Amino acid sequence: MEKLRYERPVIKKLETNMPNKFGLRTEYVAKTHIDGVAVKDLIKDHGSPVFVISEETIRKTYRQAKKAFTTRYPKVQFAWSYKTNYLGAVCRTFHQEGSWAEVVSGFEYDKALNNGVEGNKIIFNGPDKTDEDLKKAIKNGSLIHIDHLDELYSVIELAETMSTKPRVAIRINMDTGIYPMWDRFGFNYENGQAWDALNKIMRNKNLELVGLHCHIGTFMLTAQAYGTAAYKMADLALGIKKKYKHDIKYIDMGGGFASKNTLKGSYLPGADTNPTFDDFAEAITSALINSNFEPDNLPLLILETGRALIDDAGFLVGTVISNKRSSLGKRTTIIDVGVNILFTSFWYEHKVTPAQPFTQYTEDTTLYGPLCMNIDVVRESANLPLLNKGDHFVIHSVGAYNMTQWMQFITLRPAVVMIDKNSKAHVIREKETIDNITLMEKVPEHLEEFEL
Ligand SMILES: *Cc1c(COP(=O)(O)O)cnc(C)c1O
Repeated sequence: MEKLRYERPVIKKLETNMPNKFGLRTEYVAKTHIDGVAVKDLIKDHGSPVFVISEETIRKTYRQAKKAFTTRYPKVQFAWSYKTNYLGAVCRTFHQEGSWAEVVSGFEYDKALNNGVEGNKIIFNGPDKTDEDLKKAIKNGSLIHIDHLDELYSVIELAETMSTKPRVAIRINMDTGIYPMWDRFGFNYENGQAWDALNKIMRNKNLELVGLHCHIGTFMLTAQAYGTAAYKMADLALGIKKKYKHDIKYIDMGGGFASKNTLKGSYLPGADTNPTFDDFAEAITSALINSNFEPDNLPLLILETGRALIDDAGFLVGTVISNKRSSLGKRTTIIDVGVNILFTSFWYEHKVTPAQPFTQYTEDTTLYGPLCMNIDVVRESANLPLLNKGDHFVIHSVGAYNMTQWMQFITLRPAVVMIDKNSKAHVIREKETIDNITLMEKVPEHLEEFEL
């Protein structure tokens, strides 16, 4: 055991009325290991900072979500949202668990094919599908979720020249009581756009309408909005059945479940307040079961859950560069993790835990990243024990959207490591080198030489 550390005593004013407006102290124990691997070894072996993904947490979270739905509804299928985290090892973990792929660009589509996902298990969403993309998706029997009429017309034209019948669905946007409403994607339910598109599809003998899709928002903090959405989706499906005697095969409720992260400005931690998988599942499946589908002929329920399945499995481990005091005396700590690799720090108050034992004193601290840019603030104010130069820390719940939205800016992007169930750490993305970055640059001949 390490010898207890001495820290100088400080005199602090006691606040007897309101709790601290930055919330209560949450750090009581150091996070010295992730899934049995010492943080200091991860840094020693892979550099600092380094992203760390827990394979076991992905599987555990996925199984929890799946159970919440399959215990309430007979036919459920998850499809992994590639844009949330499209590292090959992460996607394949979800595919091993039984997830299909959900993609929103030609690039992501090819990534899913490269990962070995069969074409008919790829859901193709998004407003930007080129004719080349569409042709490939039609040929492979993928599920094409049409976003706008121009895309529908392209699919109709392509279908005339191709021997395979496109399997299509439309994306529907609607009022679910959440404002501002997401109405830029797909066809509106309330104003009749959705019916207009559905009639165009049903009256065209070359297309097969297989499903209905919606994705009502992201980081949704109320489960009931999904109940409203599912009710409206069921209404459309039943309308198609009545008018055309056509059964749609699935209702896809998209993604958007909040993870356990804490949004900036929240009073309480997200882990205590955000709805659970059970809350979302209850709202969606009750609406479907209580609608007028024949009990033996319920549509397949597809879920494209992204962030809520991966956020907790991701950690970002780093090192303290320096401490200083602001002009007003507040403690500021500079760390080697910047907003360029932790994009989500723009809207989350990420939990940060020291990776070595610490003493009892805490202080409101601003965490700055290493960039020479004023916007590089990882936490405005976190109640933290003193971190010294060279100390390590762990930033929690960073699995979603950081490893796809990160920017190569000022510094190189770090390695990503996945820890398996036997506590073995595998590099799943190498850290960048200057050669990776300059590989695609070209210098015109007349600029090659200079004298200073
Ligand atoms: C981004 C996206 C998802 C995943 O959203 P999360 O908020 O990460 O759950 C699912 N479906 C579609 C169409 C998306 O664009």
